[in-house]
Amino acid sequence: MPRKIALVGVGKIAVDQHIPALNASSEWELSAAVSRNTVVDGVPNFTDMDEMLKAHPEVEVVSLCMPPVPRFAYAQAAIAAGRHVMLEKPPGATLSEVHTLADLATKAGLTLYATWHSREAAFVKAAKAWLVGKTIKSFTVTWHEDVRKWHPNQDWVFEAGGMGVFDPGINALSIVTEILPDPIHLKSSVLDFPENRDTPISAQLDFYHPHGGTVTADMNWDHSGDDVWQIEAVTDAGVLTLKNGGGVLLIDGVVQTGAEDGLSGEYPNLYANMARLVADAASDVDLRPMLHVSDALTLGKRNVVKAFDW
Ligand code: NAP
Repeated sequence: MPRKIALVGVGKIAVDQHIPALNASSEWELSAAVSRNTVVDGVPNFTDMDEMLKAHPEVEVVSLCMPPVPRFAYAQAAIAAGRHVMLEKPPGATLSEVHTLADLATKAGLTLYATWHSREAAFVKAAKAWLVGKTIKSFTVTWHEDVRKWHPNQDWVFEAGGMGVFDPGINALSIVTEILPDPIHLKSSVLDFPENRDTPISAQLDFYHPHGGTVTADMNWDHSGDDVWQIEAVTDAGVLTLKNGGGVLLIDGVVQTGAEDGLSGEYPNLYANMARLVADAASDVDLRPMLHVSDALTLGKRNVVKAFDW
């Protein structure tokens, strides 16, 4: 029997990814939606989550797809109502609020899953396996995309808590923290804030690496042309290049085969993971990607750059 799930916050990512992934899954039945502005075809729709939870006690899991700042209150209420919770990335606006949610879920015996969709890209596992036992000389993240393409007119990304370029940059950090065999921490960061916005539009990060490797990230959200979502690792035994956000892998320039579905498996995999976590009465809340963002905002040297307008 598929588990019953409700989606809350029906915006770009819910429409692009969550609804198709749920509709294609035999493990899940989309049983309700909560949206202040739209409706999802074929399911009961609500504008208020508490009303939905009261009306649908059979809904075991709530998947929260709104931006990070409003998400905590919804997650807290869903846990209080005895529901397992799945969080879009980044899992919250602050680290401490996600710790609070994790504690609440543990006390209630419920699953909390802080998802990282980029970790589910086709070649992330292969990249992780290839790096095991290799000495890192350099690890270079280049994450350039056009905010107007992926977040059209979404002002929240430039408001406090919206994280600016770290909204996509945290995807890179979710892959880095998954595949890099060594623990790293931030040494310095330089952040460019548009003069009319509260979050950075570009960022340069420099990390400490325990064996002396150079680990850097260059994130830019004011990019035109194709997205550049790349991680290059130069090691003592060759060069790994993860391109297209983890959808393509090259070793010493040779394209690897065996997992050609690029990024299309990301959200189906997240829902498969959630089904397993609920079945196992487990949670998965890895906050390392967000820790690096928090450190970057703490250590960051601030430049003020030209105003950003859509
Ligand atoms: P969005 O379209 O701007 O917002 C999603 C929905 O959240 C809105 O349609 C709205 O839903 C709800 N919402 C917005 N503000 C709210 C508030 N103050 N209180 C309650 N609900 C609110 O954003 P999105 O692009 O889908 O991104 C949502 C999350 O997904 C973010 O954390 C983002 O990082 C992540 N994500 C986005 C993408 C992408 O390509 N855009 C990719 C991967 C992950 P209703 O109108 O239904 O109430």
